[in-house]
Amino acid sequence: MILDVVKFGHPVLRQKGAQVESITLETKQLVADMLETMYAAKGVGLAAQQVGRALQVTVLDVSPVTDRPSSIEVDGKPAEVNDYMPMVLINPKIEPVGEMVAGSEGCLSFPEIFAEIQRRESVDVTALNEKGEEVKFRAGGLLARAIQHEVDHLNGILFIDRMDRKTKENLRPDLEDLQTDTKEKLQKKKK
Ligand code: ZN
Repeated sequence: MILDVVKFGHPVLRQKGAQVESITLETKQLVADMLETMYAAKGVGLAAQQVGRALQVTVLDVSPVTDRPSSIEVDGKPAEVNDYMPMVLINPKIEPVGEMVAGSEGCLSFPEIFAEIQRRESVDVTALNEKGEEVKFRAGGLLARAIQHEVDHLNGILFIDRMDRKTKENLRPDLEDLQTDTKEKLQKKKK
């Protein structure tokens, strides 16, 4: 089922996700719905907060992107990125590796807003997959960027928090409009 994507201004985006204690049928359904929602919205990643659930669950798929490379290393050996897509990360822990690099980012909770964001070039990831198995790998390129963006969401951090001051200043009118619009819609729902 395609779920509504929560937009900036909704308080759930600022909530830290709870750890998933056990992977139930409900968790599996959430993961399936999140994947469907991500593909329908043509995103490369989606966090549970973005469908209104403050949980440590994120889904990613960088395989449709051909102009920005991604890499994966498992046990120190390069692996085929597409073999790991779509990717489901539950209770992920990441360890940044390497230099900060700038790259363009968007977010499904911020329609039509894009900005250059500084992220580490690689990350070491430990998480559970949707079967509850532990996965460990090093991600690079676009995948590393997307994982850092999604793990931020799971902790209530948004890409606007990572923008430099000038970029955020330039986007301020758009951000304020979006926030106001989201809050108005939330008020209407309550009535
Ligand atoms: Zn996002």
